[in-house]
Amino acid sequence: MARYTGPRCRLCRREGCKLFLKGDKCYSDKCAFEKRSYVPGEHGQGRIKVSDYGIRLREKQRVRRMYGLQEAQFRKYFDKADRQKGVTGTNLLVLLERRFDNVVYRLGFAESRAQARQLVLHGHFSINGRKVNSPSFLVRQGDKIEVREKSKTILPIRQALGAVARRGIPEWLELDDDKMQGRVKAMPEREHITMPIQEQLIVEFYS
Ligand code: SF4
Repeated sequence: MARYTGPRCRLCRREGCKLFLKGDKCYSDKCAFEKRSYVPGEHGQGRIKVSDYGIRLREKQRVRRMYGLQEAQFRKYFDKADRQKGVTGTNLLVLLERRFDNVVYRLGFAESRAQARQLVLHGHFSINGRKVNSPSFLVRQGDKIEVREKSKTILPIRQALGAVARRGIPEWLELDDDKMQGRVKAMPEREHITMPIQEQLIVEFYS
């Protein structure tokens, strides 16, 4: 299935929460969800009865859309999380957080995960001194993420770094914004993921 290229604010309205897909706009009063927090479409403002299946489906879609993944990719992460030791839901969220495009976004080098994905694909970052252009690469504890020398003047990266204070950096990462470098201090844990996610519902959906 092709990647979704339609209006992204519509996805937030569909999922009933802010997914932060558009960078700066998400933190301003121009946010479409702030203005119209109901489901898009003709019957969006009516009463919608949601089944148990629907509740679980929506939770899965919310997280999948938040991280900008297609269904097949998301399912692979779920299967991988299921094979790991520990709680499957937590494993899934940790795997998603460790994706390279997410780390670039979390470090403030991009305003959204979609932008981070684009910048990674164009080869603007390195991990431990080696160019990595795969958004799905999973970072490990101790990895050093850098904006490559030739990319340090790129406007979107500089603009995103300028606004990093507003979003903040998660505890498991550290940023040196002068050197445009970041480091994975520790592996992410469940309490570091502050979005209102009920991962158990995703596990139930796939079960
Ligand atoms: Fe979602 Fe951001 Fe659009 Fe608001 S501005 S609806 S948070 S994508």
